[in-house]
Amino acid sequence: VRVAPADVGGEGPSGRVFLLTYRDISQTRRIDRMRSDFVANASHELRTPLASLRGFIETLEGPAKNDTKAQEKFFGIMHEQVTRMSRLVDDLLSLSRLELKSHIAPEDQVDLVPLLGHVRDSLLPLASDLDVRISLEVPEEPVFVQGDRDELIEVFENLIENACKYGQEGKKVDVRLTGKEGQAEVTVTDYGPGIPAEHVPRITERFYRVNVEASRSKKGTGLGLAIVKHILTRHRARLLIHSEVGKGTVFTVRF
Ligand code: ADP
Repeated sequence: VRVAPADVGGEGPSGRVFLLTYRDISQTRRIDRMRSDFVANASHELRTPLASLRGFIETLEGPAKNDTKAQEKFFGIMHEQVTRMSRLVDDLLSLSRLELKSHIAPEDQVDLVPLLGHVRDSLLPLASDLDVRISLEVPEEPVFVQGDRDELIEVFENLIENACKYGQEGKKVDVRLTGKEGQAEVTVTDYGPGIPAEHVPRITERFYRVNVEASRSKKGTGLGLAIVKHILTRHRARLLIHSEVGKGTVFTVRF
């Protein structure tokens, strides 16, 4: 609060006239706080595999120097950790790139029919490893939306991959595209454990995970849905999440 003598305003105690100006800085504070939380989270996520790598290097230089069996095992784990770090850095770069262009709407005309077929095909190896069947239902005619092809691929890869990973026990994932005048809708349905209601509003936040250990073991970075949300906002599309514990989850993208 700044108090300054002025020609307008109420009378001060001494008989002088004051003008009071008030600026709400809570929004700025909130953004600063979110930014520093994000940096702290990202550093922590990178630090964990780094610390583990350091431990393995020390063991390989010392106690396991002549133990070829242990060396083989440790190199395998180190390889996994490095892959995890690369995935995290890729996701962080994707997010920052998207933030830079968040105000520019993409302009290409993209047909969602072949795009979803392409995404499904690229995820078949993962689905087969997890023993999940992905079914895809699309209209006969093209369904065009205005967008960026690569970004839309990233959206559906993330949603279908999550459905396969987290809904694995449901054994199948249904992807459905419907299109009518000026509106297109894609639903990704799994029949897994679902997401408890209190977590649903938060799962698109960066690094938010319902179960950190489960997400790590499923090779998650906690950034997938944050990226999806950024891309969809840029496309002026909505993400709707409907989940029932014990029954499964439906992610709907509405253009
Ligand atoms: P991650 O990289 O951990 O998978 P995401 O941002 O993609 O991160 O997802 C955030 C969290 O939301 C996941 O860790 C998981 O707990 C939950 N989640 C996402 N999709 C599903 C789903 N289909 N079923 C159950 N939980 C899900």
